[in-house]
Amino acid sequence: RLHIGKIKTGCSEFDEMMGGGIESQSITEIYGEFGSGKTQVAHQLAVNVQLPEEYGGLDSSVIIIDTENTFRPDRIKQMVEGRANELGLELDADEILKNIHVARAYNSNHQILLVDSAMDLANELKDSGRPVRLLIVDSLTAHFRAEYIGRGTLADRQQKLNKHLHGLQRFANLNNAAVLVTNQVMSKPDVFFGDPTKPIGGHILGHTATFRLYIRKSKGDKRIVKLVDSPNLPEGEAVIAVTKDGVTD
Ligand code: ATP
Ligand code: MG
Repeated sequence: RLHIGKIKTGCSEFDEMMGGGIESQSITEIYGEFGSGKTQVAHQLAVNVQLPEEYGGLDSSVIIIDTENTFRPDRIKQMVEGRANELGLELDADEILKNIHVARAYNSNHQILLVDSAMDLANELKDSGRPVRLLIVDSLTAHFRAEYIGRGTLADRQQKLNKHLHGLQRFANLNNAAVLVTNQVMSKPDVFFGDPTKPIGGHILGHTATFRLYIRKSKGDKRIVKLVDSPNLPEGEAVIAVTKDGVTD
């Protein structure tokens, strides 16, 4: 069994709560409402994982499966600058962007297929000195939510999502990679699905995602991240800030 890698988030409270950072060989789900900061955390980890281990990274490349067209290269550049200033390092934003491989997923079937493509790319990069140690799916559930509407299709949707998650877990295991998935929850009742305050995928995700994080807005640029589920860590909460520089204390 390979040594588990940990990716620091950029916020010490958050990292402490996670026992050092987001773990490889696991799926971490971050769920929360619209605008709560899920995509921001994803962008930040895509930067941080590329740093050397002594700076909380894994000297890694990144793959992002972008299902909502929310990947922003300019935001990555801002975060690189933020990290560079904070750590007193010289970082090349263009180089960091080159190591982020973004694939747009046009529907849920395509999204599932992209995990196979991710596996191929990870195999290619395995001995490159910059292997893929982070795979992000942002959002995991948006296509599924849009395509499977109505009670009768819920079982189908769960089955598909489950298959997808198995593919992601396999990716995590074979590449000693962290998998981060985002999942939007709604604040208001949703006419199509049962409990609107629970992330979709409910039960099945609950069993598959090893770490589950609930993120919510707080005052100003602050966000509260709650560790809801973990195989080995106590529940806890961390306050993070999302600023121009990215995710910080
Ligand atoms: P959704 O469910 O709609 O995908 P999300 O949880 O992914 O939402 P994000 O896109 O991560 O939400 O968060 C958006 C918020 O992040 C903005 O409302 C703002 O508060 C903050 N943010 C984004 N970019 C910046 C920036 N450059 N500087 C400071 N804060 C920013
Ligand atoms: Mg988002």
